[in-house]
Amino acid sequence: MTDVLIVGSGPTGLTLACELALGGAAVRVLDARSGPHRESRGKGLNADSLEVLARLGAAEEPAAVGIRGVVLRKYFDGDHVNDTPTTGDGILIGQWQVEEALRRRLAGLGVPVEYEARVTEIAQDGAGVTARLEDGRSIRAGYAAGCDGGQSSVRKILGIPFEGRTEETETMVLGDVRVPGLSRAYWHQWFTSAGGGILLCPMPGTDSFQLQASPELGESGEPLPPSLESFQRLFDRHARVPGIRLADPTWLSVWRVNIRMAARMREGRVFLAGDAAHVHPIAGGLGMNTGIQDAAALGRTLLSALADPGTRGALDAYEAERLPAAAHVLADTSERYERVLAAVREPGRGTEAGMD
Ligand SMILES: Cc1cc2nc3c(=O)[nH]c(=O)nc-3n(C[C@H](O)[C@H](O)[C@H](O)COP(=O)(O)OP(=O)(O)OC[C@H]3O[C@@H](n4cnc5c(N)ncnc54)[C@H](O)[C@@H]3O)c2cc1C
Repeated sequence: MTDVLIVGSGPTGLTLACELALGGAAVRVLDARSGPHRESRGKGLNADSLEVLARLGAAEEPAAVGIRGVVLRKYFDGDHVNDTPTTGDGILIGQWQVEEALRRRLAGLGVPVEYEARVTEIAQDGAGVTARLEDGRSIRAGYAAGCDGGQSSVRKILGIPFEGRTEETETMVLGDVRVPGLSRAYWHQWFTSAGGGILLCPMPGTDSFQLQASPELGESGEPLPPSLESFQRLFDRHARVPGIRLADPTWLSVWRVNIRMAARMREGRVFLAGDAAHVHPIAGGLGMNTGIQDAAALGRTLLSALADPGTRGALDAYEAERLPAAAHVLADTSERYERVLAAVREPGRGTEAGMD
C-alpha cells in the first residue's frame, strides 16, 4: 500500500516526495495539471532551501544555473539612480527549474509525478485515507499531504478555515517575456513619481525576464488583465527607453495581496503544507522557501510515524513546528511588503527594502 499520497507537485509536494522516498516510504504524487510548467514564479532559493535540496541530492542543477549577488539597477522617472548588489547566500532561479531538479531526483528514486489526477474527495478512517479523483479512480494510502497550493482542494475538503485577508485592489501583473536589447546584467527596477513601476529580472538559464508591474487601470479604476500590449505600455510609461519591444510572453499572471493561514495543518491522517497552509506577500521571496521548509519538517514527522506507528503524539510534531513558523512568515512578509511600498517612492530605492 502507498504510505503517503501527496496531492500537488509544486516545490512543496516534490520536496516532501523526495524526503519520504529517500527515507524508504512508498509515495505517490498526483497533480491536476497536464504536465510540468515553465513559469518563473517564486524566483529565489535561500540558503536554508539550498541546504534541504543538497541533502536530497537535488541542489546541483539549481546551483549550477542560479546566480548569486544579482545587481538591482534602480531608475526613477526614467533616470538611472543607482545599483545595489544583493547579498546573502541564496540564488536567483526560476521556480520551474527548482521543480525540474526535484522532479528529476524523484524520478531517479523511482517515483514519477502522475499528471491529470485531480483529487476531489478524501475520506479517512483509523487505518488510512482514501482519495477520490475527478476521473473516478480511488487511491488508498496511510497518510495524505495537501501540497496543492493557495486554492487547496484538500484544505477545503477538510473544512479547515483559511484565516486572514485578501486585498482585491492591491494587485500586480506578472509574466515571463523576452526583452531584446535590454542588458541581462541587472534586475531593472523602474519607479515613477506619479506612482507605480515595472521590474524586469533576467531569469538564469533562459533568455527571458520575469516582469512584475503595477497594472494598468481601466476607466473606473479597475486593474486591467495582463497582456503583452499592456506590458509594453507599462514599460514605455515607466522605463521610457525608446526602441525596446517586449516579446514572446510565455506566462501572464496576476498576483494579489493575500495574507492568510490555515487554522490547522493536520486533520487526522491528512496534512497541509506550503501555499495550501499559508499565503503571504512576495516581498522577501519566502513563498517557495517556506513550502520547502514545511516539506522537510513534514517528511521528518511522517517518517517517524511510519517507523513507529504506535508512538502517540508523533504526528503532532509537524504542526507544532510549522504553524508558528507560518505565523511568523505572514507577519514578517507583511512588514517587508510595507517597507518596499514606502521605499519605492524615493529615488534609488527598490525591492532591497524587503530583503534586509
Ligand atoms: C502568480 C504567482 C507569482 C508568484 N511569485 C512569487 C515570487 O515572486 N516569490 C516567491 O517566493 N513566491 C512567489 N509565488 C509564490 C510561490 O510560487 C508559491 O509560494 C509556491 O509555488 C508554493 O508552492 P506549493 O508547492 O506549495 O504550491 P504550488 O506551486 O501552487 O503547487 C500546487 C500544485 O498542486 C496542484 N493541484 C492543485 N489542486 C489539485 C488537486 N485538487 N489535485 C491534484 N493537484 C492539485 C497544482 O496543479 C500545482 O501544481 C508566486 C505565486 C504565484 C501563483
